[in-house]
Amino acid sequence: RIVILRLGHRPERDKRITTHVALTARAFGAEGILLASNDPSITRSVTQLCQRWGGEFYIRNDVKWKTEIKKWKSEGGKVCHLSMYGINLPDAVPSIRECEKLMIVVGAEKVPFEVYELADWNVAVGNQPHSEVAAVAVTLDRIAEDEPLESEFKDAQLHVVPMDRGKKVIENP
Ligand code: SAM
Repeated sequence: RIVILRLGHRPERDKRITTHVALTARAFGAEGILLASNDPSITRSVTQLCQRWGGEFYIRNDVKWKTEIKKWKSEGGKVCHLSMYGINLPDAVPSIRECEKLMIVVGAEKVPFEVYELADWNVAVGNQPHSEVAAVAVTLDRIAEDEPLESEFKDAQLHVVPMDRGKKVIENP
């Protein structure tokens, strides 16, 4: 079980990135995402996409990040905060893989220091600055036991037929 916690995004500026964090989380196997910001349009568009492309991914708008982290930990979950300043991912993968209930936290602008303190791991996807979308994708891929690129999404209305040229999508197969 993996859930993503997206810390407060800046209205307008981070809208697309937050949407992409959510879609990447879904595509790479997270069960849901919590948004510590209030932007119902993101929740709407992600929910609509999930209805068409299947699976049981959930999105919750406007959560309180500290409450969610503390609740998760009190239920036995562990927290991995992604930050370029952390332990490099390859060194953390073996211990993260032992965890059955994992929250992955990503920031937008400056992340409060308390997040670093509450996290069980502060993990860098390489110690260079890049993007929360890339950080989520690489982390989910590296910690996965099964191949995330081959996962099936239940009750999908749309299916891509892979091909080496062109685009083919089947509706309600
Ligand atoms: N300047 C902010 C700070 O120092 O906290 C971070 C801004 S960065 C664009 C937004 C988020 O992307 C970070 O909070 C982190 O979650 C993620 N991120 C960016 N580069 C990363 C890296 N190399 N490893 C892990 N996460 C990274």
